[in-house]
Amino acid sequence: MMPYRGRFAPSPTGPLHAGSLVAALASWLDAKAHQGQWWVRMEDTDGPRCPNGTDQLILQQLAQCHLHPDAPVQWQSRRTHLYQAALEHLRHNGLIYPCICSRKDTVQALSAQGWAFQRHASLPYPGTCRQHPPSAAQISAQPHSWRFAMPSGTWHWQDRWLGSQSQNMAQAVGDVVLRRADGLWAYQLAVVVDDAEQGITHVVRGQDLADNTPRQIALQQALRLSTPTYMHTPLVRAEDGEKLSKQNGAHPLDTRDPLKCLQSAAQVLGLDQHPGPVPQALAHWVGQWTAQHGTTNSQAETP
Ligand code: GLU
Repeated sequence: MMPYRGRFAPSPTGPLHAGSLVAALASWLDAKAHQGQWWVRMEDTDGPRCPNGTDQLILQQLAQCHLHPDAPVQWQSRRTHLYQAALEHLRHNGLIYPCICSRKDTVQALSAQGWAFQRHASLPYPGTCRQHPPSAAQISAQPHSWRFAMPSGTWHWQDRWLGSQSQNMAQAVGDVVLRRADGLWAYQLAVVVDDAEQGITHVVRGQDLADNTPRQIALQQALRLSTPTYMHTPLVRAEDGEKLSKQNGAHPLDTRDPLKCLQSAAQVLGLDQHPGPVPQALAHWVGQWTAQHGTTNSQAETP
């Protein structure tokens, strides 16, 4: 068995808010409950959305909350050669294909199939360029993305918080983009490559990402990488019931009062309130977490 190694992987598009601290605290507690390591990785592949200095602000907020990484922090923007190599591997094995569809093309194709659009729902790609590959001339004449040919069937997996999960990825999401037409690396590829390359054994993150898990497992299998165990923790909801995010009023956390911030995060995770100080509160929560989530039996099953 590989020694436990967990991670917190924020996208530095803004400072930590109440929701992201829950993911940070949960992943830290799980690592400490397993006497494991906790790493931090900055997911800054979408450079234009990551204001300068936000990464440092996040690290400072984590430090104020006494959440210290056990290894040097890594930045995805410095690891693009790894994503390129993975893309080449997939291309060599015929598992990805170039796509020239715009979002408008996708909407039109789905409308033609009678698709019922839901607000905020991501659009499953209908496979246009898989069925009708663009010509070499078309590919060289216009920007194109690379899509992963999603395996068919219903995928089942175990989540340590949510229990048994299943998803038919071909229907729910279709073939996902791994490299965007503007040249940026997509989260799905970067996260899979990095979790494997960094030897991450346990992923603990927010429930908004739970439905991304089978995509990531499918990609791990296509790249012959190992699959970590997964746990998706509850979200902090905004007043409109949506996941708290910068778009619906998440305020940057004022971590000059770290105990207050951590107490709110702990409450979301169903942990006791603790009067502090912070080191004692964290130690108490590690004990409680161990009692509640100590065992990790999460295996991915493929169709
Ligand atoms: N970077 C992602 C986010 O901030 C999290 C990725 C992950 O934990 O897998 O939402």
